[in-house]
Amino acid sequence: MDNCIFCKIANNVDNPVYEDDKIVIIKDINPQAKIHYLVIPKKHFNDVNELSVNDPDLLSHIFKKISDLKNEIGFSDGFRIITNIGKNGRQSVKHVHFHLLGGEELLDKMG
Ligand code: 5GP
Ligand code: ZN
Repeated sequence: MDNCIFCKIANNVDNPVYEDDKIVIIKDINPQAKIHYLVIPKKHFNDVNELSVNDPDLLSHIFKKISDLKNEIGFSDGFRIITNIGKNGRQSVKHVHFHLLGGEELLDKMG
């Protein structure tokens, strides 16, 4: 997709936390927890609704990889997965991504 920042990042990333042929995991540029990663698929979908309807295997791959990697990337004591959707969800980048937050005990408040 032209002019999509996450299409560019996911398909040409320096020093990813993790990369395979379908996804990258990178550090968020503006961390909101001690550890804040973004899981970004290389293929463009606007949000998780589009992803789940059009490519459920990719959605499943993402969650399987998060589960496989969680200990080695710093989340052995737990973490939070967030995906923002649309205006009310305050989604600022319109290419589906999952925030992984942890490395410390997070706040109870989520919204
Ligand atoms: P959203 O609000 O769409 O759920 O989250 C977008 C996230 O992407 C934000 O947490 C923001 O800090 C992060 N972000 C935006 N641009 C870049 C970038 O160029 N590099 C990285 N690593 N993170 C970015
Ligand atoms: Zn994109």
